[in-house]
Amino acid sequence: FKRPRNCRRVVVLGAPGVGKTSILRRFLRDGFDDRYQPTSEDFLRKLYRIRGETYQIDILDASGERSFPAKRRLSILTGDIFLLVFSVDDRGSFEEVVALRNEIFGAKAALLNGREPTRVPTVVCANKVDLPAEEWAVSPADVRGVFETSAKDGQNLDSAFEALARRGGLPPETG
Ligand code: GDP
Repeated sequence: FKRPRNCRRVVVLGAPGVGKTSILRRFLRDGFDDRYQPTSEDFLRKLYRIRGETYQIDILDASGERSFPAKRRLSILTGDIFLLVFSVDDRGSFEEVVALRNEIFGAKAALLNGREPTRVPTVVCANKVDLPAEEWAVSPADVRGVFETSAKDGQNLDSAFEALARRGGLPPETG
């Protein structure tokens, strides 16, 4: 797998079924390169061109157990920008995102030997907000400060993507 120069590495993580693939499909409506096939069931890596920029996007299913297998750990260590996704109807997926965030910061800090404060560009999506209130399993406090998205109706996906691009140091969208 050869990565072009200046390629931003985006790592998309969350419990299975929260909508990672659906969100990416929405983001990528303006063109993608699907030459790269899934490398295993819980790990998908593709190169995409979005608004003239090339992104390597790794989509990983997190399945509860901590301490990542080697491939996931490598993704995390080499990732530039993180998109963490939970689903508002799945309490466990919210807890997974909290644990993932700690794991990512821990891994990055270890990489720097704890010498420097770690800044990890991260965007969190609370997905499936189109679901009716009675199906929500997370509290208003749990979604405070995160992007409330729906891959079904497209809600807030543009703002989440723009935040991702901004935090990753990309130029703002030009139109
Ligand atoms: P992944 O395993 O995290 O990649 O999740 P998928 O993208 O495969 O989505 C899992 C299921 O949730 C699919 O049946 C999707 O249609 C559904 N889904 C994904 N996003 C949304 C959403 O925003 N709203 C609703 N209602 N369903 C969604």
